[in-house]
Parts: sequence; C-alpha cells; structure tokens
Amino acid sequence: MHKCMKCDGPTKGYKCDVCGEESASHDPNHEHGSDHCMPRCQECKEAEADCRC
Ligand SMILES: [Zn+2]
Ligand SMILES: [Zn+2]
Ligand SMILES: [Zn+2]
Repeated sequence: MHKCMKCDGPTKGYKCDVCGEESASHDPNHEHGSDHCMPRCQECKEAEADCRC
C-alpha cells in the first residue's frame, strides 16, 4: 500500500490538491494532471501534499 509522503501513514483513495476532487482510483486524465491526483491521507482525508498530521 502507498504511504502518505508527509506523515508516512496509510492512504485511502485519491484526491486532487488543486480542486479537492476525490476518486477511488488514480485518474491519469484528471484536468489538473495526473501528478495532482495524489494519494489521500487516511487520517486527515486531505491530499498527501496538504497533510498536516
Ligand atoms: Zn498523511
Ligand atoms: Zn483537480
Ligand atoms: Zn494527514
């Protein structure tokens, strides 16, 4: 399983750090680019770039 790059905790689903759109699986065709559709931290439910755990 992928680990959150900020807190090293578990992730669940994916979330865009630009628009906040969530998806169950990675969307390479997301409008803000595949890099912004990033794993979502399971603790705070934020995209891993926005994790403050
Ligand atoms: Zn995290
Ligand atoms: Zn987006
Ligand atoms: Zn977090």
